[in-house]
Parts: sequence; C-alpha cells; structure tokens
Amino acid sequence: MTEIPKNHPRYESLLAREKVASGVKMGITSIQGLVAQGRGESFDYLIGERSTSSAVHAERAAVAALLLAKNPVISVNGNVAALAPDKVVDLADVTGAKLEVNLFHRTETRVHLIIEQLKANGAFEVLGKNPDVSLELPHDRRLVESRGIYSADVVLVPLEDGDRCEKLVEMGKTVITIDLNPLSRTSRKATISIVDNLTRALENMIKFGVEMKKEKKEELVKLITTYDNKEALFEAISEIQEHLKIMAAEIGY
Ligand code: ATP
Repeated sequence: MTEIPKNHPRYESLLAREKVASGVKMGITSIQGLVAQGRGESFDYLIGERSTSSAVHAERAAVAALLLAKNPVISVNGNVAALAPDKVVDLADVTGAKLEVNLFHRTETRVHLIIEQLKANGAFEVLGKNPDVSLELPHDRRLVESRGIYSADVVLVPLEDGDRCEKLVEMGKTVITIDLNPLSRTSRKATISIVDNLTRALENMIKFGVEMKKEKKEELVKLITTYDNKEALFEAISEIQEHLKIMAAEIGY
C-alpha cells in the first residue's frame, strides 16, 4: 500500500482509496468496487466528511434494532472487507450478529479470501461459503444461507445494491444500510438508512453498541419506534444543502 503522509489534508479519504485498491490487488474486492468507492467519496465531499446528526440518529436506531434482534446478520462484500474488516468483526461481537459474505461479483475464491480476511481480524465463524437458498434476484447476491441472511430478522447490508435491499424488505426484514448517497435506491428502500461513510458509521455503531447494551429494553424499543426513515433522509439532504451553502459562502463571491 502506498504510504500516505499523516498530515495530508485528505489523509482519511486517500487511505480508504488505498485500502480498496489493495483489496483489488489481494483479490477480495472487485474492480467495480473502485467505482463504487469513488461514488461514495463524492457524496462524502458534499456531506463534509463528518457524521451528521441525522446519521448519528440512524446509527443509534440501527444499533437498537441489532441489539433487540433474534437473528441479526451483517452482510459483508469486497469493499467492506477491504475497508473495515476489523470494525465489522467488532460490531458483530458487540451486537451478537452473525457475519455472512454476500457478493454481487461472486467467485468461490473471493468468498474464501474474504472469509480468511475476517478470520484474520478475529471472526470466529463466517457464513457465505455454502449458500443453500436462492432469493428471487437476477444476480449472485441471491445466494444466501438459511441460518444466516435468509432467516435473519434484522440485516445490516453496508454498501448494498437497491434490488436486493428491496427484496429483503419485501421478505419482512428490518434492513439497515450504510450508503453515503441519500438518493440511491438502497437508501430509499431500506428500513434504516445510515447516510455516512462506512468506516465512520461502524466506529460510531461499535461505541453506541457498548453503551446501549446497558440500557433498558424499553429505551431501545423507543429509539426504533420513533425513527422515521423518510424524515432521516430529508434531514440528510438538508444537511448537504446547508454544507454547500457554507462552502459557497467561503468562495466569497
Ligand atoms: P442503488 O442500486 O442503491 O441505486 P448504486 O448503483 O448507486 O446503488 P452501487 O454501485 O451498487 O450503487 O453501490 C455503491 C453505493 O455505496 C453508492 O451509493 C456509494 O455512494 C456507496 N458507497 C461507496 N463507498 C462507500 C463508503 N466507503 N461508505 C459509504 N457508502 C459508500
């Protein structure tokens, strides 16, 4: 991985880019994953590369849903495995969720390499190698395990594509997504859309998970029942508008 000077003003963003590029070289991330990362980066720029208050609100509701779930599952793809393998394992530990590899551009080698990557970061068991159910979808994200995503009541699908998100919602699941684009089909279809950078979102969620585990069940239920995804997306778009106004004013025209 190319060394990035820590004092570079765009250190975090360049580091993430290097991680995804390394993921491609290691064979865990698809070449298309680079484009997905680029799209995410551009939205992060507009958001101001920070966790907004609407994102934090969605992250807290998402953690409450994971903690209250009977069979929570975190779906891992090649970008997630390249960018935050340690964090996704930590979040699974804190919330008691299973991990399942699920890929759009699936090859058995990539599934194997991602499982090894997660295990090297502390995961005990990772599902996804032996899918035994096929969802009604026209691509390989249809392949899931019956004791994982198929039977999950709450699924966290970071960096998801819109049609599987819609399918999982249709199946009656609480679907949590992490996507910097508040306008994507995924963000609009999910039950809880976290409009934040994957790395920042997972760091926040791990911290909230540790704190919220000590809270009463009623408090967690309240966080979920008072959460409104349309309102959260509206807030996310408004926060981008506000940030752009500030940036425009800084030009000083
Ligand atoms: P949809 O079908 O939901 O409209 P899409 O075609 O816009 O999805 P994909 O290419 O399937 O998008 O997935 C990439 C999505 O993930 C993009 O919306 C992008 O903003 C988001 N994304 C990419 N990298 C990150 C990241 N590091 N953190 C958060 N979101 C990211």
